[in-house]
Formats: sequence, structure tokens, C-alpha cells
Amino acid sequence: SIPLSFFAGIGGASHEGVLVKGSNYLETMARTKYVVFDKTGTMTQGVFEVSGVHHNTMPEEQLLEYAALAECSSSHPISKSLQKAYGKQIHRDRVTEIEELSGKGVTAKVDGIPVAAGNAKLMKYLNVEYSECEETGTIVHVAVDGKYAGHILISDKLKPHAKEAVRDLKKAGITKTVMLTGDMKRVADKVAKELGIGEVYSELLPADKVAKVEELLEQKSEKEKLAFVGDGINDAPVLSRADIGIAMGALGSDAAIEAADVVLMDDDPKKIAKAIRISRKCMRIVY
Ligand code: ADP
Ligand code: MG
Repeated sequence: SIPLSFFAGIGGASHEGVLVKGSNYLETMARTKYVVFDKTGTMTQGVFEVSGVHHNTMPEEQLLEYAALAECSSSHPISKSLQKAYGKQIHRDRVTEIEELSGKGVTAKVDGIPVAAGNAKLMKYLNVEYSECEETGTIVHVAVDGKYAGHILISDKLKPHAKEAVRDLKKAGITKTVMLTGDMKRVADKVAKELGIGEVYSELLPADKVAKVEELLEQKSEKEKLAFVGDGINDAPVLSRADIGIAMGALGSDAAIEAADVVLMDDDPKKIAKAIRISRKCMRIVY
């Protein structure tokens, strides 16, 4: 039978905006030693600003229109920022054959013309020759009718408490913090450095993130637990694979709520250390 104080623990946690799906997760969370983060939407705001449209073959406005239309049904924060930068109403009937390739981008037909918007992996996959660029933001390459049309540079910001959140975890005795991301190495390394996260793996597809977590699971003892914190976009499989999957600010994402063991009601990454502290306190009361 489940000790009554577990229910008190779950109830108390929920008061703090930490929803725990079962008492067993409180126990696992209390033993967390490794915390692995997703980047976009977890440690960063996931609100991108378009900082430049670099066009090779067509006017900027048109490049942005192709990208925004092709992305019209994606829920990725990159898509949302492109819609916003485009600023005009999207006529969805102009867009057909939409396909989202997680960790890469999207392909679709706009007015019957094939359009692709995404990262270098997507361009390679489609055999489109693209130009590398030296800028530090996330880059959305755009191909129209099979030819490279240019790229859109967008940048994301750290969440206000992200750095403190990492510090709190170290203070709480977390021995390893790791960041995983599908974004470019250059962007990932910069963010990890700013946050004080020593280990970072970039340019990962959702399946690569799972493989990386499996590697990390091997490194620690059975008693020590690994928590993965993500937002459910392109990381639901990892949320399920970790010892404890924590979804943050996930109230908008069904995939995250489904895959996670613990759901943090708000976007504040400081809630991660708080959740671990609550779980430990609860275990001390139970035993
Ligand atoms: P993270 O691991 O940081 O949360 P994702 O796995 O969601 O990032 O995405 C990884 C990369 O894949 C993004 O940085 C972007 O380059 C590309 N990408 C994913 N979805 C899209 C999209 N809808 N449009 C354009 N690019 C995308
Ligand atoms: Mg993500």
C-alpha cells in the first residue's frame, strides 16, 4: 500500500505548480543526480526574433512569405516567429503536401511549388546546395522549387532564471548537468557556456537525443537517477526514456503531458531544483 504521506507530498507539490503523476515518481525524483536539459523552450524562451532575411534569388518579402506559408501548420516556436515576422494573414489553401521532419524543418507545396524551410540537415537531405554563414543565431534555410533561395536568421533568448536554475541544481547536489539540442553547435555551445552547463551535445535528431540519454544512463549507478527536462516539442521520446521526464511550461503541449512523469505548470526553470527538493522532503517524511 502507498503511505498516506505520499499523497500529501503530491498534493504539496501541486501547490507549488509541480504536478507529479504518481508516488513512484516522487521517489525517483528524490534520487536525481543527473539533469539533462533540452534547449529550445526549456532553457531559452523559445521566442525567436527574425533578425535578418538573406536572399539569394528573390526579394526578402517573398522569401519570408514562402517560409511562413510552408510552416503554417507547424507548432515549433521557429514557425510561430516566422508567422509573426511575415505579419500577413496566411491563406492555408495555398499550401499543400505539408510534411514536418522533426529536428530538421518542413517541406510543403506553396501555390504548387515545392518549398523547404529548415536547417542544414534538411538541405542535405533534399540535396540542395546551401551557403554556410558565420552568424550566431539559428538559421532557417529556404529552398524553392529545389533550388536554394536564401536563409532567415533568427535568435532566441535565455529564460530570465535559466542561469540561476543551473546553479540551484548544483547546490542541490546534482553532479552532472547536460544540454541536448537539435540546434547548431555554435548556438548550443554559446548557450551552454552562458548557463554554466559543462556538457553539451548539438545537432541531434529526436532519436539521437534518446541515444545520448541512454549513454548517460549507463554512466551512473543504478541508485542514481537521471532527469530529462523538455517542452515536448521534438523531445517527447526522451521524456519517456529518462528515469524521470519533466515537462516544463507544457500546458500547451499534449505530447509533453502524455510523455512526462512530472509536469511543471510554469515556464520557470528554477522550478526544477524546487521539484527535486520537494520530492526529497517528502521521502524524508515517508521513511
Ligand atoms: P531543441 O533541441 O533545441 O529543442 P528542436 O529539436 O526542436 O530544437 O529543433 C532542432 C532544430 O531543427 C532547430 O534548431 C531548427 O534548426 C530545426 N527545426 C525544427 N523544426 C523546425 C521548423 N518547424 N522550421 C524550421 N526549422 C526547424
Ligand atoms: Mg525542443
